[in-house]
Amino acid sequence: MDKTLVEKFENQLQGLLTELEELEFTSKAATATVVLDQSSVGRLSRIDAMQGQQMAIATECRRKEQISQIKAALKRIQENDFGYCLSCEEEIPAGRLAINPATTLCVKCAK
Ligand SMILES: [Zn+2]
Repeated sequence: MDKTLVEKFENQLQGLLTELEELEFTSKAATATVVLDQSSVGRLSRIDAMQGQQMAIATECRRKEQISQIKAALKRIQENDFGYCLSCEEEIPAGRLAINPATTLCVKCAK
């Protein structure tokens, strides 16, 4: 794959990673607040808080997965292995990578 294109994807991945890690930091603070507040709030708002916390945990799971996918993609860039399908080893079209640079499968194998 074209070097400048790989660099473009690398920048994109780095940006995404920074963004996700910042989000992780803010949401950790939010979850901690919910735990501390539990003794001082009423039952209903406690349920509210717990539902919010569960949603936060689900989002955090997705985010962790995204972060590890991005880190893996950055590693593949360093190893000159970026842009190839992990299943059939064909080159993944740049258009597909533009949508999600962390993708590991070509269109055929992703189905
Ligand atoms: Zn494939």
